[in-house]
Formats: sequence, C-alpha cells, structure tokens
Amino acid sequence: MNLQSTVKLANGVDMPWLGLGVYKVKEGQEVIESVQAAIRTGYRSIDTAALYGNEEGVGQAIRESGVSREELFITTKVWNSDQGYESTLAAFGQSLSKLGLDYIDLYLVHWPVKGKYKYTWRALEKLYADGKVRAIGVSNFQIHHLEDLLGEATVKPMVNQVELHPLLSQLELREYCANQGIQIEAWAPLAQGQLLDNELLQQIADTHGKSIAQVIIRWDIQSGIVTIPKSIKAQRISENADVFGFELSAAEMAQIDGLNINRRIGADPDNFNF
Ligand code: NAD
Repeated sequence: MNLQSTVKLANGVDMPWLGLGVYKVKEGQEVIESVQAAIRTGYRSIDTAALYGNEEGVGQAIRESGVSREELFITTKVWNSDQGYESTLAAFGQSLSKLGLDYIDLYLVHWPVKGKYKYTWRALEKLYADGKVRAIGVSNFQIHHLEDLLGEATVKPMVNQVELHPLLSQLELREYCANQGIQIEAWAPLAQGQLLDNELLQQIADTHGKSIAQVIIRWDIQSGIVTIPKSIKAQRISENADVFGFELSAAEMAQIDGLNINRRIGADPDNFNF
C-alpha cells in the first residue's frame, strides 16, 4: 500500500485511503499552497466543501499541479442552507464553477438537515445519473438518518463522512455502514489536535519511531476507514502521509480501540443549529 492506494466504493469508483482536509484553510494563497504541497507529496484526494469558502483556491492548485484530472479525487459538499432539490442543483453548479471543474468525484450532503435531506439526496441522485459526479454520499448521518434515507433512495450513499477518532470510534455506525456497503470516512481524524499528548498513543508512536498523528492515521487505514487529516504545513502534510511503511500490531490496534469514550469535538448530528 502507498499514498495512492485506493478503496473500491460500492459503485466501483476508486477512492484514495488518505486525503487532505482543508476545513478552515484560508481561500487564496494558504489553500493553494497547502493543496500544492499535498499533491507534490503524492496526495491525490482533497476534501473541501462549499462552507469552507476555498473551492476557488483548491481548483487553482489542482489546475496548476501538473497532475491530470483523472488522477485526482475531489470531494465537495452541499451546505445546509442550500439543501432541497433545486437549491442543491444550483449549489452544485456554483461549486463546480468555483472549482473550475467539469465533474466532481464525490459530492456529499454535509449534514442531515431535518425535513430537507431527502430532497437534497434526490438532487444528488440526479447529478449522479447525469454523470456530473462519480460518487455521492452523506456526512454526519447516524444510523437512523441512513435508514430513513435508504427507505426512499434509488442510489445508496457510497460514503458516510463522520467525526471519527480514537475518542469517538463510532463502532456501531461502522458496522452498520459495512453491512450496507457504505464506506466510512473520518473527519477530524486527529481530534483537531486534542490527542497529540495522549500517553498511550505516545508509547505506541515511540515503539515505531513515528508521531502520534502518524499512529492515528495508520489506525484509520488499518481499520478500513478513509481519512483526511488537515494541515497547512508542508512538513506535517508530508508527515501525515508517511504511514505506509509500518504496521500496528493487533494488540496496538485493540489498545487504540480502547481509548473510545464516545466524545465528540464537533456538533451532534441529532442536535445542531446551523
Ligand atoms: P484534524 O483532526 O484533521 O486536525 C487538524 C489539526 O491537527 C491541524 O489544524 C493541526 O493543528 C493538527 N495537525 C495536523 N497534522 C499534524 C501533525 N502531523 N502533527 C501535529 N499536529 C497536526 O481536524 P479537521 O481539520 O477538523 O478534520 C479534517 C478534515 O475533515 C477537515 O479539514 C475537513 O476537510 C473535514 N471535516 C469535515 C466535517 C464535516 O462535517 N463533514 C467537519 C470537520 C472537518
């Protein structure tokens, strides 16, 4: 396995196991430099969203990267205020034009907005049928949201991107998604920095001569979870990708699994107000 290794989604599309997240990365120079550093390092997957306000910079960086479009895997998401059928189609058009692309690899429903997400999903099904997106999925969906959606969907989400890190390992949701053929993708894999002084992780990291960030990212991949750590520093972008030359033992994997305390950093998908 290496940085360009992929997992096959239910519809046969190959998605890289590791990508760069760009949440809170500033539009313009900052996002352009981060995405360029990632692609230079060998990343092929970038995770943005309309909300992040940096789709133009992401687009510019990938155009200037010299890597062909087909080799890249670009994810973006429809924001909550744009949910609904027509408004999602319009929001998609805007994302596409900001990115300067003619298709998206993965388009996600950013949050399960009550009373709206099924209409939003229909729009994603239409974009998928029209060949404007290679795969469609959801984000922050709990099991009950998925069951509700699957009751009506004609296309099953291929991905569910959720908050997931050793403090919130989402075992039940992972098992449900595995049974449904829905790939789990971890956001905030590094718990936004909150795990970087964890003693157990430090011990495991020392054993392998790796950093805590690398141990967590490796834990994701060995657990069958697609992961998108964020950094704007070239050195860390490269460090976070250097996870293919070592392996965590079954005992270490179990120890990391044992850190779960169901603790969220971000909002609760059943109780958010944005
Ligand atoms: P993260 O867990 O990836 O943490 C990022 C932070 O960790 C960085 O800002 C940096 O301070 C630190 N860091 C990164 N690499 C490091 C290293 N090697 N050593 C030390 N510190 C390091 O948090 P995130 O950015 O919230 O999540 C990752 C991505 O997931 C986002 O950028 C975004 O693309 C996506 N995301 C999606 C949602 C959603 O609702 N779908 C929500 C949040 C984030």
